[in-house]
Amino acid sequence: MSTPADSAVNALAGLGAIVLDEIVPARAPWSHLVRGGETLRIIDLEGNQSADFLMYAAADDAERYSAQDTIAAQRNVYLRTGSMLLSNEGNPMALVAHTDVAYHDTIGGACSRESNTLRYGFHTLSHHACVENFLDANLRCGRGKRDMVSNVNWFMNVPVEADGTLGIVDGISAACLHVDLLAQMDFIAVISNCPQINNPCNGFNPTPLRVVIAGPA
Ligand SMILES: [Zn+2]
Repeated sequence: MSTPADSAVNALAGLGAIVLDEIVPARAPWSHLVRGGETLRIIDLEGNQSADFLMYAAADDAERYSAQDTIAAQRNVYLRTGSMLLSNEGNPMALVAHTDVAYHDTIGGACSRESNTLRYGFHTLSHHACVENFLDANLRCGRGKRDMVSNVNWFMNVPVEADGTLGIVDGISAACLHVDLLAQMDFIAVISNCPQINNPCNGFNPTPLRVVIAGPA
């Protein structure tokens, strides 16, 4: 029988020296420097929790994650084990070294107060959203709205139908599944632990994430 201590150890399996190990509370923003060669592990503690994610090059944050370059280079809209996340200058930023989830989204974008009111009605205007989390985390580094770009949605299921239709449907993640990003350069990782409660991307119940940064195994 496994114990909570066992699962805590398993959550760190395969990683090198731990640099950071933190819980991102439900609905909260988070950001931290990840150095080239380190692994950023994001753990979906309770399952089906979207981790909205951006990256900015530490040396010059004008270079940042580019969903378009990543999709074009790999000729596929989904992020899976083996996907290389590219910058807007075409440079490798992070390799999806391993993930337990079949695929992740990078075309669904981040929820905002504005998009919530359009999709779900004016009464949702006061609902906290990922755009506010990204702005909060980025402001500490001097970035603003013009620095917001298309993001990754780890653990979010946005299937693309044969005719090109997008869906936001029940997740394919589960408790304690994770994604490992092997940094190809020094970058600032920014996470919005998605607060959305109007669609199934968080199972209608936002929950905490765990983030671990580790050296080479
Ligand atoms: Zn969101």
